[in-house]
Amino acid sequence: MNKAIFLNFPTHGCINSLLATATELVDRGEKIIYYCTEEFRNKIEQTGAEFRPYEGIINEFKIENFDLYKALKLSLEMTVDKLDHNLDIIRKENPDYIIHDSLCTWGKHMASILKIPAVNLMHSFPVTKSSISFNADTAALLLNVGLYKLKNQLKKNNPQKLLKKKYDIDLSLGDILINKERLNIVYTSQHMEPNIFQKSKSYRFVGPSLFFKNEHNNFPFDKITNKKVVYISLGTLLNANTEFFNKCIEAFSNTEYYVVISTGFDIEKNQLSDIPDNFLVKKSVPQQKLLEHVDLFITHAGMNSVNEAICFGVPMILLPHTFEQKLIADRVMEMGIGIVKNINRITSDELYMNINKLISDSKYKKQALKYKSIFSAEEKSSHLKAVDEILDYIQKQC
Ligand code: UDP
Repeated sequence: MNKAIFLNFPTHGCINSLLATATELVDRGEKIIYYCTEEFRNKIEQTGAEFRPYEGIINEFKIENFDLYKALKLSLEMTVDKLDHNLDIIRKENPDYIIHDSLCTWGKHMASILKIPAVNLMHSFPVTKSSISFNADTAALLLNVGLYKLKNQLKKNNPQKLLKKKYDIDLSLGDILINKERLNIVYTSQHMEPNIFQKSKSYRFVGPSLFFKNEHNNFPFDKITNKKVVYISLGTLLNANTEFFNKCIEAFSNTEYYVVISTGFDIEKNQLSDIPDNFLVKKSVPQQKLLEHVDLFITHAGMNSVNEAICFGVPMILLPHTFEQKLIADRVMEMGIGIVKNINRITSDELYMNINKLISDSKYKKQALKYKSIFSAEEKSSHLKAVDEILDYIQKQC
């Protein structure tokens, strides 16, 4: 039996697809000590791993609108904070290896400081230079990264400088988005791999993993029976977009569709326009169970949400915010399961027209069902494949 430390970036999207792997490692006799923030204790304890809360000051990753500069800055500050407060504690555990997710920069660097092997679990695509084609989004990304460097070069407490000084870590900003290891497990189907992505043996696409089921016993499923249901969610992170939800209310008010909106926890109903009778607005819904019953999903194209929609055969309108969501959305469109639009530019009329198009043209549903059978078959064994890869790799390292 090995002892492993599991280090997770504290967001639902970073955690959900990794839980089945943690459970399987525990079932195969590995001792797993799983670090995250208190908010995720219940979810993580379901795996049978031993939960430990991170010590430190910055325990929330919260940015209001997608702003790469702010996201990079916060990630770096979290990395310094987590190393400062947890490295010695973890050193005393004397672990055999570390498992971290792809945004968890402190996980990668703890392993290198402790000189133990590490595996990177990727809830989304590897965003590497070779997976990026140059377009307006790339230009914006580079501009933001440049801005980060410029703004911070002269600052005394620049986290990049602190990491170098305290831990001798040379961190490029690109590393923060990927944290590559010699073994990187990607939790989606090979079919999602963008054509531009340069194949590398270190990335193993094991398939989607849907272990985490958000069960709310009080969701009124009776309200959606025998209706054409449209489900709208912008995920759990950059979701407080009242303007967009109001656009949806305008688009589908008093239409033939029954619309379920998951707003997230940062929006109150009274911040939205009057809610029509054919709407159900909740802060959070049991997404996987709901997807079994919906005709169409309007999504921000987060990897978990897209994997889940495909596993349930649901066509999508995709409104990506971030760079890697754009890669995911474009691939879904190439697979014929959805249409990609710009969330800021789409009008309420266009929303309604596109929903009609996706629902009335059977080719989208046909493609969704084709990929449903592939994805759901892969889903059954993704955690087994991931654990086989991890244990095989660790055995070779030790
Ligand atoms: N989710 C949920 N209920 C909701 C909204 C989201 O259970 O009302 C879950 C969803 O099933 C998915 C995760 O939250 O597993 C969102 O992850 P994703 O990668 O799609 O987006 P992120 O939140 O990281 O932007």
